[in-house]
Amino acid sequence: MSSKPKVLITGGAGFLGSHLCDRFIQEGYEVVAMDNLITGNLENIAHLFGVDGFTFVKHDVTNYTYVEGRLDYILHFASPASPIDYLKIPIQTLKVGALGTHKVLGLAKEKGARVLIASTSEVYGDPLVHPQQEDYWGNVNPVGFRGCYDEAKRFQEAMTMAYHRYHGVETRIVRIFNTYGPRMRLDDGRVLPAFMGQALRGEDLTVFGDGSQTRSFCYVDDLVEGIYRLLLSDEVMPVNVGNPSEITIMEFAEEILKLTGAKSKIIHKELPQDDPKIRQPDITRAKEILGWEPQIDRSEGLKRTLEFFKEKVHGVPQS
Ligand code: UDP
Repeated sequence: MSSKPKVLITGGAGFLGSHLCDRFIQEGYEVVAMDNLITGNLENIAHLFGVDGFTFVKHDVTNYTYVEGRLDYILHFASPASPIDYLKIPIQTLKVGALGTHKVLGLAKEKGARVLIASTSEVYGDPLVHPQQEDYWGNVNPVGFRGCYDEAKRFQEAMTMAYHRYHGVETRIVRIFNTYGPRMRLDDGRVLPAFMGQALRGEDLTVFGDGSQTRSFCYVDDLVEGIYRLLLSDEVMPVNVGNPSEITIMEFAEEILKLTGAKSKIIHKELPQDDPKIRQPDITRAKEILGWEPQIDRSEGLKRTLEFFKEKVHGVPQS
């Protein structure tokens, strides 16, 4: 019998899930990646097929979910996560946050596994407190277009705490702020793939609203490190993991133009409903509890990400 710890990663073929698969394989774990491939893509984990200790299961985690043998850890990362995706498939978004979370918590209880749930800064909604600390309860419109995602994530956190308190399941909750890096989908509608795709194709960059809204972008390797540390920590209450370096979307568009050297114009489109006006993580708890803070600044992270998107857009690696 293998003595490696075994981890189930739901959403394992997605952007974050696939980077987590890489990290856990590197750390010597047995990894079961599970995905229904609605928004995930096997290309993200193709390099892991045939690697010792890695298996992939095509399964929708909103249905009864079981993994043979022992299981030490579960990371629940299955969910549409971009506004375009969850507006297109709102019911699946609600189901994976609610029913999917219920299934993985039940599996964790059965196996005696520790489970880490991927929550998000969306639980803070359009925040009235800045930067956002974990004890802020948020400002969410349940019946707006983003409600399907925000409320799924809030329900998910409540369900997780109930399993912890009632059944004694070992649970961890990470609140993920905007994260970027290789393997984001060009067409997922998020601001970074949108701007990089537009710049590389010589199209105008579409800034929604006047571009004064802010975000704080974290490079994926930093996020994965924070999640890895949180999983192995004793912290049950939610922990923000993100990069506090905050910029306006207008400034971000200008950065992408400078980086790519594109001559594109910036044009404005309508601001989507309930688009948060400001967002910045307070990472005091992550620093204190996990000894974690981001190491990769935006200029370095964007360079690395641009290499990935150049290949996606032009089909071949460019120098
Ligand atoms: N945004 C934009 N142009 C685009 C896509 C997004 O100006 O083509 C804006 C969007 O309105 C939001 C910010 O960029 O204010 C980040 O959007 P994203 O969808 O990446 O994630 P969010 O943080 O809103 O979930």
